[in-house]
Amino acid sequence: MKADFTQIEPFITKETLKHIIDNVPMPCLLRDSDYNWVHSNKEVDALFDIKKPNQVNYDDLQPPYQPDGCPSRSKFRTLMRGVIEQGNPITIDWLHCRKDLELVPTEVTLVRVDVSGKPHILEFMQDMRESTQARIAERIAKQRLQAMMDSCPMACGIIDEHFNVLECNNEVVNLFGILNKQSFIERFFELSPEYQPDGQLSRRKALDKLKQTFEAGRTHYEWLHQSIYGEQIPSEVTLVRVNLNEQDLAIIYIHDLREIKRSIAMMEKMQSIAYTDELTELFSRRYFMENAKTILAKSKANNDPFHLIMMDLDHFKGINDTYGHPIGDEVLKVAAKRMTNVTRKDTIIARYGGEEFIVLLTDLSYESAVKNAQRIQKVMEESPFMIKGMTLNVTVSLGIATLENPADSLDEIIHNADIALYGAKRTGRNKVMEYAHAKELE
Ligand code: GH3
Ligand code: MG
Ligand code: MG
Repeated sequence: MKADFTQIEPFITKETLKHIIDNVPMPCLLRDSDYNWVHSNKEVDALFDIKKPNQVNYDDLQPPYQPDGCPSRSKFRTLMRGVIEQGNPITIDWLHCRKDLELVPTEVTLVRVDVSGKPHILEFMQDMRESTQARIAERIAKQRLQAMMDSCPMACGIIDEHFNVLECNNEVVNLFGILNKQSFIERFFELSPEYQPDGQLSRRKALDKLKQTFEAGRTHYEWLHQSIYGEQIPSEVTLVRVNLNEQDLAIIYIHDLREIKRSIAMMEKMQSIAYTDELTELFSRRYFMENAKTILAKSKANNDPFHLIMMDLDHFKGINDTYGHPIGDEVLKVAAKRMTNVTRKDTIIARYGGEEFIVLLTDLSYESAVKNAQRIQKVMEESPFMIKGMTLNVTVSLGIATLENPADSLDEIIHNADIALYGAKRTGRNKVMEYAHAKELE
């Protein structure tokens, strides 16, 4: 059979109650139903710096008004009456005041207790000064952090150990095209594709990075985000561990790399424009000059061969004059194609000037290089150029020079190839001339 405690009359003597009050480890005060002090423990004396408890007017231990503007006296009496009438304890915030006028915020619990059949009120007071100060400090810290985030020119937020976003600044709204900050907080994981470009699950990778952050204090990594419309946002993420209110959290900074990536792509494009000859799609003179120097230095260091062929179309002015400049351009394109077809893939062929080309050959003997030049000469001569229904006979002259001793500079070898080319022109064109022979002619 269950015991029915509602049937037991609460009964306690004043002496027993005083004994209990004296041993309660917190300020505790007993009042009668008319609000008069009956008994209090020494914690109350300590809290209010009371020397003689029975000489204190306990009404004076509170400011005349509570923070909500109600007169303390009448408000407390009303609350007390309510507890006495209904019998249910209540807990309220109450502002007390010491004799030295220091305000003491407290949490007060009022309990009805019947002493010898008469209703009394037990008042337990919890000193909230420290926790109120802690709350204020916490609020200030939070405000400071929010101000710091709001003034940060980069999207940032605070996350907990599960990567839940707790707070963020307004930059996230601009970055992700979302409606408001709340959207970022609620839909954070929708702002990354399911998988990162390296194949890892975004959620797992993010949690790994967060774990590293809690261990190391800081991590920095590339991340692919996406806007709410699905636009990819390559970004750089920095996570910094912070301890806020005794809780390990992290600040996330998201650096949008789209602009930088666009600039890099633009620079690469511009570079490729500078390095490619638009008409023939061969390398430009600039590319040749920038790279030939390095290759020459390497050849010298490794004692490797380094040969240059200079090629010029014969009587090209005549082709322009007879068929027009556009046809001349087509001839240049076909000539470039034929040169590419008869040389190795790794050969550097550049358009050196108007109708002048330069070929750089390494990794093969001088004899093979000469053969290469002859192949080029033959491939032009042997079959006519078919351009817009016309058949044109085009020939070329070539001069070849090679790295002979380590003191030779790039300019010198080019100059020698030029001398050889000039020799080929002088001695009838449509031929290959080696520098050594050209020198003898001079
Ligand atoms: P040579 O056999 O002595 O080389 O005679 P050539 O007529 O070819 O003489 P030269 O090399 O001095 O002539 C160069 C001509 O090439 C002059 C110029 O009009 C023409 N030329 C240069 N660049 C271009 C171009 O991009 N397109 C066209 N169609 N012609 C060009
Ligand atoms: Mg020329
Ligand atoms: Mg020419």
